[in-house]
Amino acid sequence: MEIKVDLISDTGTRPSQDMRRFMAEAEVGDEQLGEDPSVNRLCRMAAEMLGKDEAIYLPSGLMANQISFAVHTKQGDEIIMDQTAHPIHYESAALAVISGASIRPLKGEGGIFTVEQAKEAIRDDDYHSPQTKVISIEQTTNLGGGRIWPLERIKEIAELAVDNNLKMHMDGARMLNAAVAADVNPAEYGQYFDSIWLDLSKGLGAPVGSVLAGSAEFIEQARFWKQRLGGAMRQAGIIAAGGIFALEHNVARLKEDHKHAKMLAETIADQKGLEIDPDTVETNIVLFSVADGKADLFADELLEKGIRVSRMEGKLRAVTHLDLSLEDIRYAVKHIEKTAKDIFV
Ligand SMILES: *Cc1c(COP(=O)(O)O)cnc(C)c1O
Repeated sequence: MEIKVDLISDTGTRPSQDMRRFMAEAEVGDEQLGEDPSVNRLCRMAAEMLGKDEAIYLPSGLMANQISFAVHTKQGDEIIMDQTAHPIHYESAALAVISGASIRPLKGEGGIFTVEQAKEAIRDDDYHSPQTKVISIEQTTNLGGGRIWPLERIKEIAELAVDNNLKMHMDGARMLNAAVAADVNPAEYGQYFDSIWLDLSKGLGAPVGSVLAGSAEFIEQARFWKQRLGGAMRQAGIIAAGGIFALEHNVARLKEDHKHAKMLAETIADQKGLEIDPDTVETNIVLFSVADGKADLFADELLEKGIRVSRMEGKLRAVTHLDLSLEDIRYAVKHIEKTAKDIFV
């Protein structure tokens, strides 16, 4: 079956013709020597955007998380994060292998925990316990359903971190979705974090990479880890240019994706057998339940119509992005309604 509307992830976005042209003309140099002008330009843009001294270009978001944790911890230290966090589920246990740090998972709401929860999770100074070193938050929450960490909550948690001598890390895979939806300048988030990154290869539409920002001292250590993990590149300006193009053209338009997600959520909420609270859909992720254990059946039936969604922890997930037009969303809406009626009415 040909896939007409692919809602599986915003990682599916492809570089547009304009982006490809821009990439083809990029100035390049040896990135590993710090001599690639396009990579350097992208890093300056990201550092400025996030209000940090410097930034470093990396092949993936996963590497941005792992390098940050490697800099902030040593073996046996502990990192506080929500139980739905990406490093727990989708990073092939890299934390155990690379830093050897352990995780203190918290049971937040939609991936967002409270200051009280974080406070309780900080270990006492006692040789029986691991030492807490980092609080990590995910903006937006992925398995939590694309929820936005409010700036006020971040500020309170950051104050707690400062009081307890902990580092603050933001897994900002979709932080620009949050910034656009909540109308927050990304630097306002940036001020509360020792390490913060954004993914260029998701809703922003670039083919490769993430940018990790922090203090000059942090980035110096991050560069060491990047080299150690084999993340240093050569004429990477070709791909970094996709990131420059994305930051220049594809940020404000994330609003469209959020509008589309809301349309899907409202449709889903109206169907017998499907469940979601559309008010919880704040960005581009639509996580919904299907009654009577029929999630697989529902996904299969949608696929018959050329609509692909993903299966996550017993739920279904639809993610909107820049390769999906209003027409595509209308097509999905129509078939979600029809499929729900076929199965549940
Ligand atoms: C996708 C994602 C990552 C990893 O990014 P990659 O670029 O795929 O390596 C990390 N955290 C979250 C929340 C993500 O959604």
